This record gives sequence, structure tokens and C-alpha cells, in this order.
Amino acid sequence: MITAPLRQPVRVATRWWKRHMRVRTLVLCYHRVTLLNRDPQLLAVSPKNFDEQMQVLRKFAQPISTSAFDDKHNTNQQVMVTFDDGYNDNLTEAKPILERHNIPATVYVASGFVDQSLEFYWDALETLFFDHVKTPIALRLNSNQSPHEWHVDPQLITSPNWSALDDCPQNSPAWVYREWCELLRPWSAAKRNEAITELARQLKCDVPCRSTHRVTTSEQLQMLDNDLIHVGAHTINHVELAAHSSNEQRHQILGCQRDLEQILNRPITAFSYPYGSRSSFNDQTMSITRQSQFKHAMANFPGINESATDRYRVPRMLVRNWDGDTFERHLREWFDA
Ligand SMILES: [Zn+2]
Repeated sequence: MITAPLRQPVRVATRWWKRHMRVRTLVLCYHRVTLLNRDPQLLAVSPKNFDEQMQVLRKFAQPISTSAFDDKHNTNQQVMVTFDDGYNDNLTEAKPILERHNIPATVYVASGFVDQSLEFYWDALETLFFDHVKTPIALRLNSNQSPHEWHVDPQLITSPNWSALDDCPQNSPAWVYREWCELLRPWSAAKRNEAITELARQLKCDVPCRSTHRVTTSEQLQMLDNDLIHVGAHTINHVELAAHSSNEQRHQILGCQRDLEQILNRPITAFSYPYGSRSSFNDQTMSITRQSQFKHAMANFPGINESATDRYRVPRMLVRNWDGDTFERHLREWFDA
């Protein structure tokens, strides 16, 4: 038991010990560095803000590569920069900034989108709902039905306030968009593609395929991967692994690793679980990544890494489109937690 007058010094000493004695590694999770007209998933950081964030990182902590996870370091405040999905702006926008500040990064790529004229389903749905729906619609969602049995109902619904997904009014386009993203998340790639095609048919428009929302090509991947920036695996089709059989998980994980190794002609030893929440991967998933020459697997729930942290469920901090000051405030809070 600690008496009241002693509590404050103990707290100060604990904070000092955390800051100065334990090696603690913060892993940052980014997706895109670009300017978007619309970003309902809040995936993009502007190039200006990313540049400010990297300046802060250089000043505030020791940026290290994910391949140096368990190396001995002199500093106790280490930070790793990671990107999920493999959008082509990781090469065109993020790479020059990372190189200017000499900050290592790992980009986890969904290999089934490389060299394909194909958007991720959340991007395709965004275009379908916000660009092609002239009259607001309500969709009756039933995951047990084939997409061909879905009914697109042209009812009037509430105002299109879609900027923030968390507080969009029920039945607004943003709300319907979010429902659809949730619906398609555990599905196979084939069923998702069928859904997008059918929805586009019912809305009488093309399946979206914007150059701004494409994953890198093979050639771009080869330009991205160098001594500073490493490419890692993120499944073939960006599937929610826990929703699929062990065989399908193995196919998605090892297939992605094989695809990327063929493109880059080197071993791929870094992995990140699509979505990364505790429910989106399971023991089977972790067992497959452990047995597959991967040295770590990134999750996507908050936390800070210490030497005892399981390297196959590494917590990461999502970074939003913050300016340098806001980013620094978050870094300080995360390290002090
Ligand atoms: Zn992802």
C-alpha cells in the first residue's frame, strides 16, 4: 500500500522509468499521403502535414525500420512508420518526403491489386454512393442474398452530410455507405466484385477505376522498395482473414508473399493483417504468419511495443491528417501512456 504523500513521487518515478529506462517502440499506421476531395475513411494525410509530421518524428524520437525491431538500440523512444494497402501515392508523395528526412518505412501491399484496374471496395462504394446516386437511395441489405436479388430503392433520405462517418445521420448516404462497407468486409474477393458490379448496374454507371485510387504497379513497387523503404505483405485480396477457412487464409498470406517476392526478387518477411482489429485475425492466422518466414505481423489496435510484446500481433497507432503540432501532442501522449 502506498500512502497519499508518496503517490505523486511514485507516479513521477514511474513516468521517468518508462521514459528513460525501457525500450518502447511506437508503430505508426498510415495509408495514403495525398490530397483528396473526399475521404470518408479518413485514410489520407496531406503531403504538407506528412512533411511536418516527419520533421517532428526526426526531432522527437528515433525512427527505425521494422526489420530492426529486435536490434539493440541506444534510445528508448523508437518509432516505426508503416503504410497499409500499397496505394501509388506511397511512391509518388510519401517516398520523397521519407527520403528527405531519412526516415525508414514499410509499405504492406495487397498483391491482388498490383497491375490491376481495380479499386478497393471501400473506394468503389464511395464513388457509387457519392457520385452516381442522383436521388438518395436506401438499400435493403441482406448478406444471405445474392447481389442480383438486392433491391435498390429510390426513396428520399436525409441530407448528404458524409464528411464524418462516425456522426452521419441514419439513412444519409454516408450511413448507407458505411453499412455497405461493413457488409462487404468479411466477404470473399469474388463476392465483393460481384456486389460492386451489380450495384453499378442497378445505378446505371461504370464500375469505378480512378488513377488516384490505384495500388502501385509492379514497376512502381520496384521503385518503392529500397534500403530505406521496404515492401511487406497484406494478403492478396485484402480479405478479413478470420472470416475465412484456414486454407483460404494460407492462400491469401502465402500467395501475397510469393507474388511480392516474384516482383521484387527478395524475401518478404513483413506482414500486416488487413483491418487489423482483434476480431479480424485469429490463432490460425497468427500460426500461419509465424510459420511463413515473416518476422512480424502488424495489427491495428492501439498500444506501445516493449520487448515482451508478441511480434505477431503488434499494436499500431493510426495517424490522421494532423499538422505537426497536433502530431507532436499525440506522440507525447502515446509515449507517456
Ligand atoms: Zn489494409
